[in-house]
Amino acid sequence: MASETPVDSAEAETTPEKLTFADLGLDAAVLKALKDVGYETPSAIQAATIPVLLQGRDVVGLAQTGTGKTAAFALPVLSQMETGSKNPQALVLAPTRELALQVCEAFEKYAAHIKGVSVLPVYGGQGYGQQLSALRRGVDVIVGTPGRIMDHLDKGTLDLSELKFLVLDEADEMLKMGFAEDVETILADTPSTKQVALFSATMPAQIRRISAQYLNDPEEITVKTKTTTSANITQRYLVVSYQQKIDALTRILEVENFEGMIVFTRTKNETETVAEKLRARGYTAAAINGDIAQVQRERTVNQLKSGKLDILVATDVAARGLDVERISHVVNYDLPIDTESYVHRIGRTGRAGRTGDAISFVTPRERRMLTAIEKATRQPLTEMSLPSVDDVNATRLTRFDDAITTALEDTAAIATFRDVVAHYVAHHDVPEADVAAALAVVAQGDTPLLLEEETLAPQRFDRDRDRDRDRPARDGGGRGDRRNSGGRFATYRIAVGRRQRVEPRQIVGALANEGGLRRNDFGAIQIRQDFSLVELPADLSRDTIDRLADTRISGQLIDLRLDQGGRSAKRSDRPQRRERDRD
Ligand code: AMP
Repeated sequence: MASETPVDSAEAETTPEKLTFADLGLDAAVLKALKDVGYETPSAIQAATIPVLLQGRDVVGLAQTGTGKTAAFALPVLSQMETGSKNPQALVLAPTRELALQVCEAFEKYAAHIKGVSVLPVYGGQGYGQQLSALRRGVDVIVGTPGRIMDHLDKGTLDLSELKFLVLDEADEMLKMGFAEDVETILADTPSTKQVALFSATMPAQIRRISAQYLNDPEEITVKTKTTTSANITQRYLVVSYQQKIDALTRILEVENFEGMIVFTRTKNETETVAEKLRARGYTAAAINGDIAQVQRERTVNQLKSGKLDILVATDVAARGLDVERISHVVNYDLPIDTESYVHRIGRTGRAGRTGDAISFVTPRERRMLTAIEKATRQPLTEMSLPSVDDVNATRLTRFDDAITTALEDTAAIATFRDVVAHYVAHHDVPEADVAAALAVVAQGDTPLLLEEETLAPQRFDRDRDRDRDRPARDGGGRGDRRNSGGRFATYRIAVGRRQRVEPRQIVGALANEGGLRRNDFGAIQIRQDFSLVELPADLSRDTIDRLADTRISGQLIDLRLDQGGRSAKRSDRPQRRERDRD
């Protein structure tokens, strides 16, 4: 490598006010999109990579998933894009269909204010027809798996002669999956003037060789992880789907003995939404983020200090340096994008020699980020389980008992009310125990004392579930489960309905395409307000169900699952439900 820039992200942490996305030299339309998605500051890999890519240099970035590497290449590529050309200007190669789709979505999100940019995912298992017609219309950015890209190149249906940017995402994974030859062919057969960015979590010899051979004097960027966490903080994690987070947080608030709490989210918008939902559930919660004026922020922090407020929902920037002894708990509602931020966040508790608790929500997809945190802090996190309905109810009853005990200590007030109760008993011929129960009903108001049913299904990690998805070239496997139902249908529920203006033909089109289903695999389709019910073969394989669940209709993840006929959060037929990627 010609030059190397190790980035100390701890350093980036100490100078946050100075570094914004605008400082990095990004295009105004891209900055506008970033404002919409609510990112406050560039992550370490973004801060280091974006300026280099904007200068036109090749980059080799050592970065894991979850560090913000997608934006690290997508933002500079979009900033330099000239729209309207017939042939693709940018190609991103990704190891799996899954990642290709994620990267595509990210590009679309960041390109929201650039007129006329088209992004196309190209992966195995998807019909050629759709890809061909899109390619014929003209596409600016292609995100694809190497096998299918090679197929198009071989067939002459993809013209990369005008390519300006080539990104290799998760290069080590692509090589592990046997795509080395395809990747090298694509590198060699595209214009030598193109700019190349290669991202990889590890740097095996083969990747060093490839970058030496095909990249032009690349700048190597690594994000150093230099971290320590304090031993007086108990660190736990909970595997939870994105949709379950707010309910999981509410249960934690019920059962944990907390004094003050900071809940960290990744975006500014989400600080507001979460704070609002907590207030609706009766907690004193407020949001602080980089958009909130300093005076207001100070006022809010003082309220937390004085106990007027118990929960702060904050972004990393807003909570930087916060020193409030009362903070007994930190909850990472969203995992941070780098390990330094994790250390910084949990350091907001355990102040002044006290003990503290840190609880991190990890979605099934984020296992790797959790491992990175454990590695960087050299401390394992203990898995906790979601507090059950019984746990919550036990805590509620204990609190209720405690409230009675405390009230009984106020002897003067008790004496007054004892007379009131005695008067009532004398005049109404009701046992005192019933009067006490009636008073409890009055005190409780409309909120039921006890939770009734289990509505949150436990989540587990998706162990490498998408690893084999798009395995090498020419997309050999993956569709082996295509079969006919023989007329036996089951009802499946999908998370799009009238509200999303979905029509039956869209449902049939999407499911047929993603699941390899045929016309006679479809029974009745009922479209309801927020969901739809679709009859499909009862014997769909797990693989097909998984694939269908990850399908999007009108941009929305459909989260297909067997319909249980219940309300909503009933146990899914998929043991490991996927979460929708945030923002
Ligand atoms: P990636 O490593 O690219 O897969 O990104 C991981 C997650 O971080 C994605 O959900 C992004 O939307 C989010 N993200 C990326 N950059 C930032 C940022 N600067 N601030 C907050 N969130 C970010």
